[in-house]
Amino acid sequence: MLLSLSHEVLESVTYAPILFTQSLETGTFLSVRPPPTFTDWQMRTLELEVRTGLTQGREVCRENQREQLPRRKAGVVSTMAGTKALLTLENFINGEFVPCNSYLDSYDPSTGDVYCRVPNSGKEEIEAAVEAARAAFPGWSARSPQERSQVLHRLADLLEQSLEELAQAESRDQGKTITLARTMDIPRSVQNFRFFASSILHHTSECTQMDHVGCLHYTVRAPVGIAGLISPWNLPLYLLTWKVAPAIAAGNTVIAKPSELTSVTAWMMCKLLERAGVPPGVVNIVFGTGPRVGEALVSHPEVPLISFTGSQPTAERITQLSAPHCKKLSLELGGKNPAIIFEDANLEECIPTTVKSSFANQGEICLCTSRIFVQKSIYSEFLEKFVEATRMWKVGVPSDPSASMGALISKAHLEKVRSYITKARTEGARILCGEGVDTLSLPPRNQAGYFMLPTVITDIKDDSCCMKEEIFGPVTCVVPFDSEEEVIQRANSVKYGLAATVWSSNVGRIHRVAKKLQSGLVWTNCWLIRELNLPFGGMKSSGVGREGAKDSYEFFTEIKTITIKH
Ligand code: NAD
Repeated sequence: MLLSLSHEVLESVTYAPILFTQSLETGTFLSVRPPPTFTDWQMRTLELEVRTGLTQGREVCRENQREQLPRRKAGVVSTMAGTKALLTLENFINGEFVPCNSYLDSYDPSTGDVYCRVPNSGKEEIEAAVEAARAAFPGWSARSPQERSQVLHRLADLLEQSLEELAQAESRDQGKTITLARTMDIPRSVQNFRFFASSILHHTSECTQMDHVGCLHYTVRAPVGIAGLISPWNLPLYLLTWKVAPAIAAGNTVIAKPSELTSVTAWMMCKLLERAGVPPGVVNIVFGTGPRVGEALVSHPEVPLISFTGSQPTAERITQLSAPHCKKLSLELGGKNPAIIFEDANLEECIPTTVKSSFANQGEICLCTSRIFVQKSIYSEFLEKFVEATRMWKVGVPSDPSASMGALISKAHLEKVRSYITKARTEGARILCGEGVDTLSLPPRNQAGYFMLPTVITDIKDDSCCMKEEIFGPVTCVVPFDSEEEVIQRANSVKYGLAATVWSSNVGRIHRVAKKLQSGLVWTNCWLIRELNLPFGGMKSSGVGREGAKDSYEFFTEIKTITIKH
């Protein structure tokens, strides 16, 4: 098929980055031949977006002949804002795409342009989603774990078949590199469904006997009902599916609210649910802001459980709103994660891994390192090599496969991250590389994007806000320490307790230090190697509860103890 369309329409379609490489200039139009590797779904999405361009008065030809095509189907819409056509998302309720009467702008972080409109949902949409989820619950919860498992496997397969377009969309929506989206975000989203499709088959319950009184006791578990799932913008589909998969595997129906800043891949996943065999109403996705639709979900009396991943202030609000209803809460929050590097560490491995742990995904991972404690005897050597390696961590446009880091999520967030560096400077700290020290070079089209260089700060006090508060950007502080006891005390001296890394070749020391760190996760001589069976979560202000095979199953079910007198 050959499509001829104007630059404006082409720029606005979901697969623009792929199509541009296949395009041929013909006057005011570009002739585009979608690659043979395009899936049916990609073709359908493209045709619908182009078609909507037509209905909106765009100049579009198909097969080189102007042809009036019918209006859009639900689920894919493009509309006009000024001269640009925008991708417009819809809520997914009871198995159908439902338009909203109010929308929010969503920005492409690599250009600063609005490219998408996200439903600005509220109470009304939550009511509709609750009704759908309530109606779907008896049927879904009555299915056997094997039947639910098959549906999850099918969904995993469909996501995997769409890996490339989901990765393209995630990278554009979030600003992360296409490489990270291809190798981490989307593969992990697929794995989330496969993992819980399998783990749901292997749970057993407890049984005890009291022969002296003729009693047998056992426990049974049942799904809780309608699960409210709220996820953040840093790993959009990855963290959303980490909640949806265990919730529906256990027999719940769900209402999910992704971040309003990164809603596109969740909406794309909705298109696969019916094909995977997910019945209408089992997964409902409502889009919009936290204060409006998030609070409507959290406050709804018929949603007994909230699984939230996000910031600590939002968690406080969710806790307040849930308290009158005694809701079950799982809170996965921020971190101020230390890396502790002893003099016997293998620096060949430690330095590249610590650069990665500090700056992966623009430093926008809750598990990223932001305080690096280095034993004094190797401090200068470490610092020199670390700064050199940081300078090699390439900032580039997200579509550049050689880039290590893309754009930050938003202008507001970029300004917030930069403000920490300004504060550090005024406190007398030294900025060794990155922001304000080195020069960032970007193509003209990306000059207004939300980019910054990975930044290393030193000569900073432990009580500085850069050492205490979560910055959630590509900024890390390096400081020296003398002894094991001292560094444990300093590492524990923040309100957070999510993840820590320890680098040493002394096994005894590793066990001692790991045990004393106030942290839900401790990686030694590595970072971010995840075992999904084991508990994930934080201590102190980093959260309440744990996620994982057994932990998620326990959270998404209610347990009951039954006593039989015989
Ligand atoms: P955020 O708290 O601003 O938003 C998270 C989600 O909550 C979004 O969907 C948002 O719309 C919603 N929300 C906001 N206000 C709400 C309200 N009043 N009621 C209900 N919902 C509301 O967090 P963010 O900026 O999207 O994400 C970054 C934060 O997430 C960082 O603190 C990071 O450390 C944390 N995080 C933690 C983990 C983890 O597993 N521990 C993983 C990723 C991110």
